[in-house]
Amino acid sequence: MNIIRGDQYNIGHICTRQQCDLGRGDKVAFRWVSSHQERTNYTFSDLDRESNRFANALQLLGFDAGDILFTFLPKTPEQFFSFLGALKFQVICGTLFSNFGDDALLDRLGDAKAKGIVTKKSLLKKITRIKDQLPSLEYIIVTDIEEHQSQDILSYPALVRQASDDFTAPITAPVTPSVLHYTSGSTGKPKGVLHVHHSILHQSRTTSEVLNLTTSDIFWCTADQGWVTGTSYGIIGPWSLGVTQVHYGGGYDAKLWFDLLQNEAVTIWYSAPTALRMLMREDSELYKGYDLGTLRHIFSVGEPLNPEVISWSRATIGKDIYDTWFQTETGGIMITNRPGLEIRPGSMGTPLNGIEPEIIADDGKILGNNQQGNLCLKTGWSSMFVTYLNNESAYNSKIKNGYYYTGDTAVRDDDGFYWFKGRSDDVINTAGHLISPFEVESVLLEIEEIAESGVIGAPDELLYEKVVAFVYLHKQFTWSKELEVKVRLHVSNRASSIATPQEIIIVDSVPKNKSGKIMRRVLKARYLGQDTGDISTLEE
Ligand code: AMP
Repeated sequence: MNIIRGDQYNIGHICTRQQCDLGRGDKVAFRWVSSHQERTNYTFSDLDRESNRFANALQLLGFDAGDILFTFLPKTPEQFFSFLGALKFQVICGTLFSNFGDDALLDRLGDAKAKGIVTKKSLLKKITRIKDQLPSLEYIIVTDIEEHQSQDILSYPALVRQASDDFTAPITAPVTPSVLHYTSGSTGKPKGVLHVHHSILHQSRTTSEVLNLTTSDIFWCTADQGWVTGTSYGIIGPWSLGVTQVHYGGGYDAKLWFDLLQNEAVTIWYSAPTALRMLMREDSELYKGYDLGTLRHIFSVGEPLNPEVISWSRATIGKDIYDTWFQTETGGIMITNRPGLEIRPGSMGTPLNGIEPEIIADDGKILGNNQQGNLCLKTGWSSMFVTYLNNESAYNSKIKNGYYYTGDTAVRDDDGFYWFKGRSDDVINTAGHLISPFEVESVLLEIEEIAESGVIGAPDELLYEKVVAFVYLHKQFTWSKELEVKVRLHVSNRASSIATPQEIIIVDSVPKNKSGKIMRRVLKARYLGQDTGDISTLEE
């Protein structure tokens, strides 16, 4: 289905005004269920007007096309209005997890030279603490204060009250920058993955072709908007097709989630393996008596989906779970199981038509079936990122001979199914969140008692991987319960609660090679009781 009218590729316009023009103005765009279970319906016409107000407010503040605005919010209606409003005005919108701590925020806002940020009162302190180090940050827009607090701390309600609800998005060329997500690497600071407006083509296509959504569906995507799944499939894909979504502002709660599935009559549900494993662990009695008759399909993304979860779902909900694979850089689903095709539990499925993966060895040789190597994708799909912001060399290092190296390793079987094997770098995937060991190590070194640190991901039954920190203390300090609490709090406050190590191991030294690089491979092998391999360059 062609969603582009004329030359207009603007995501904000297509998801709102265009839906109204197609006669869906009175249709519910999202049913908002707050963390206290209060419900409010927002129609496409509401979404259009509220995002117009926000676009006009940005214009009044002096924003220009190409400026960067971040949202730093839990799931709230303003998240959607400001994201779409910014895009309408061709302001680039970055989204940040609300559990990010000061260092994580500073790295991202500083690198992007953000001009503005939309946040909540409860998160404001995190920004004011680092504001002095962010000379480009002119406006902090707070969704739950009624009046402006100062020249730069502004009230969202006051701003939109005085802004018109009429706004016409400029005709937006396909390659105009749109969405920015930061992703973690194993070395260096997080990288800003930049997308452009024509990503909507692939997001819309996969919403229909993979997620099976039609205008009569009710869709619930549990992903936070800080993550690419939350923007590509919690906003852009479904609304580009006029689909009604459920957005729930609370966290995980098995009973509440099943209440939502049943009472909102959800037809398509998109979630993640850790959440599904948590549901699997609950007492099976909890699920008795629910009627999920409206539910057509369940999809999963973010981590390997273990076959046991699929069996649990078949037995408990009477549905398969379709695993989908993609990443921030791909902007949309690339390899996937989908209704109508055979599911091989444990496999990510097969590539979409037009997506051409290859398994490539480190020396650049394209490998055949059943051989493990780097999972690479032939470049050129519409939702492919266009660069890492301010880091063209990192972008170039990932593209070789027309293939994008995803950082994952995989195997393709004789029938064309892809099987995820792991990462080719040290990035940790905990509950679907990519954590940089380097970021956690840096934050640990801010603690005065800690002399050295090395961080790895270790297998975990629930989270897929857990964060394990090896810590070497300065001689004059000893490890204690108090110090452990201090370390945990520090990582949570500076990096994020998700990056906080599940295990902290005190060591006499952290293995490094001759150039001083932490040998996480050695730490991991020791932790797992495996052979440490070649340690000829090791210097403890
Ligand atoms: P992100 O860029 O944060 O969305 O993380 C993308 C990474 O998560 C991928 O490169 C994989 O390592 C992992 N991932 C995403 N989906 C899957 C999946 N279905 N199976 C295994 N790993 C996945």
